[in-house]
Amino acid sequence: MEIKTNYHTHHKLCKHAEGTAEDYVKKAIELGFEELGFSDHAPSTTLKDNARMDIEDLPLYLEDLERTFKKYKDDIALYKGFEIEYYPENRQFYEQLLKEVDYLALGQHFLKNSTEKFDENYVFRLRKGENLIAYAKIVREAIYSGFFAFVAHPDIFLSQIPAIEDCPAALEAVRIITKASADAGVPLEFNANGIRRGKVEKAGKTYYHYPRKAFFQAAEKEGCRIILNSDAHSPGDLYDYALDEAKRLIDEWGITIQNKLVIKP
Ligand SMILES: [Zn+2]
Ligand SMILES: [Zn+2]
Repeated sequence: MEIKTNYHTHHKLCKHAEGTAEDYVKKAIELGFEELGFSDHAPSTTLKDNARMDIEDLPLYLEDLERTFKKYKDDIALYKGFEIEYYPENRQFYEQLLKEVDYLALGQHFLKNSTEKFDENYVFRLRKGENLIAYAKIVREAIYSGFFAFVAHPDIFLSQIPAIEDCPAALEAVRIITKASADAGVPLEFNANGIRRGKVEKAGKTYYHYPRKAFFQAAEKEGCRIILNSDAHSPGDLYDYALDEAKRLIDEWGITIQNKLVIKP
């Protein structure tokens, strides 16, 4: 499988990525990519985790993309987007953002619209069955909302669950998300950044934070569209060892990848 696209690209404005739009575009052209989509972490007035751009930097992001897209428009297809959480009370904000950009990627990192990390609100801490299900239901609502072009790292909520197949709540959560994705035709992302995060060792099992085999085999069976993205936080991530490892897992697990993304206008 040749990689010619990436729809999950960050920007230094989120404060934990490096590189300007031009740095990523140059690298993508050098790699022979046909399409590149930017989806830096959108600002939020409620989530204060320092993991997203400041609201006053939003125009800078759009200007940097605009300027760069003009310069390279004949060399590669470029798209503007954001990675963002879904909360029903933010619908107006999504509508506003979609006037400025081509797409939104759902990146659900918190169950509730707050950055509290102590009560299983943070996606990497989810453990209780009821919270796994609650998380899946938010993702389902987001999928049906029509705002999102794809679900970024849809299996990120399973990192505390070593044996998904032995956890009925996890299986139910996987079913909720994969069914909604297949039904609404919203793709699920096989995210290479979970490989960069390294492996979890838990209850005698060793696995990447994500992607997870049980999740993607269920998605494949359900007939979901699955896309592969780098989730690049530096230009060098556009193609690195994590993409090679992702390709290896995709083959080993029997997953079908269907890039390119059809970006809704
Ligand atoms: Zn990030
Ligand atoms: Zn991301």
